[in-house]
Amino acid sequence: MEKGVGAEILTIGTELLLGQTIDTNSAYIGEQLAAAGIEVCWKSTIGDHEARIRTALRTALTRSEIVITTGGLGPTEDDLTCRAIAAELSRPLILDQTVLESIRRRFTERALVMSGNNERQAMIPEAATVLPNPHGTAPGFAIRLEDGRIVAAMPGVPSEMRPMLNEQVIPRLREAFGVKSRIRSRTLKACGITESALDETISDLTRLSRNPTIAVLAYPGEIHIRLTVKAESETEGDQLLDDLETKIRNRVGEYLFGRDEERLEEVVGRLLLDARATVAIAESCTGGLVCHRLTNLPGSSAFFMRGEIVYSNDAKERLLGVPHELIAEHGAVSRPVAVAMAVGMRQIAGTDLALGITGIAGPGGGTATKPVGLTYIALASDDGATSREYRFLGDRETNKLLASQEALDVLRRHLRSHRYAGQS
Ligand code: AMP
Ligand code: MG
Repeated sequence: MEKGVGAEILTIGTELLLGQTIDTNSAYIGEQLAAAGIEVCWKSTIGDHEARIRTALRTALTRSEIVITTGGLGPTEDDLTCRAIAAELSRPLILDQTVLESIRRRFTERALVMSGNNERQAMIPEAATVLPNPHGTAPGFAIRLEDGRIVAAMPGVPSEMRPMLNEQVIPRLREAFGVKSRIRSRTLKACGITESALDETISDLTRLSRNPTIAVLAYPGEIHIRLTVKAESETEGDQLLDDLETKIRNRVGEYLFGRDEERLEEVVGRLLLDARATVAIAESCTGGLVCHRLTNLPGSSAFFMRGEIVYSNDAKERLLGVPHELIAEHGAVSRPVAVAMAVGMRQIAGTDLALGITGIAGPGGGTATKPVGLTYIALASDDGATSREYRFLGDRETNKLLASQEALDVLRRHLRSHRYAGQS
């Protein structure tokens, strides 16, 4: 394996320290460098203060092969990065005629008068390579030190910095340090399983796998398994990711619902389309959230027929035909009522599938036997009705989200394991 190269980011600007501007540059640079196989080991933010910029650069050069700065290259008095770098590296500032010409041209093209300030932006440290800035006046520059290390300075404006980084700085760094590999990642998404249970099923892989590495990340209602691979070619990277994904799939199987940007509702929508099955949803505690998520999908009219928000007992009885006695005997939040909601919904909508969702979202309304978060989700199909009890531990909105997630997962699991007319 190639030797790791360590990079350090210095974002410069007093507005960043004051919290007036959020430092998005370092996040972007970190992400892009990582993908390009260059590890970022440090980052700092410094105000527009020459001595502090020099100190930060000096410190960075004691521990990093690559130092990347953004900000402070503008034409105003508070833009001190160029001067600080030149002074710290003992390189005089020299007027670069090509840069001066291109700044002049920019002003002429826009019929503006160039001020003396702008001329300052053509002053570049001796023996630096100019990084042209087609999106603004301030060019960047890169300096290669005698021992091979590189200092690259870029403007602070994100729209100017980003193309300069990707088109000029990163290719130069990869070439200079002979970096051949790139880093890519793939996310496998699971639901219906707790983080610890999932962790346990793959803990040996997580511990032992070095390339790709595995990270398990928990979000409300779903767990992401992120695989990160370092490889010289896309094919090699894909192969390594595929191999590990297969191993994980063999363990986690049915809990995995998708990859990368894919959302649970998209997967459910696709399964419904493939099965040419239709669905209707009766929601109480989720207040329409499941319908909302399904109808966010373009083309959902092919499978989504109807939804009812039956919040009151009266609505459950009148709209869905849930028997009054059933609610009186078991309560609105109960398994029999969830089942009656699903069955009633399926009957009036005439769909292949229907869900009934009833629960206590909180914060009030809980009792010792029926605590906040208690939720029942029932599915009615040609095979009859199935139901499950859940106990969510979040706040009101989280409980609604978790219930909608589980409801979609009920549909997903059913569609995976049943054959429909549309399936060959
Ligand atoms: P400068 O190159 O220092 O003149 O910066 C120009 C503008 O770019 C500033 O006014 C900020 O709005 C923006 N900027 C500077 N540094 C950053 C940063 N690290 N992240 C996001 N925006 C920045
Ligand atoms: Mg600035």
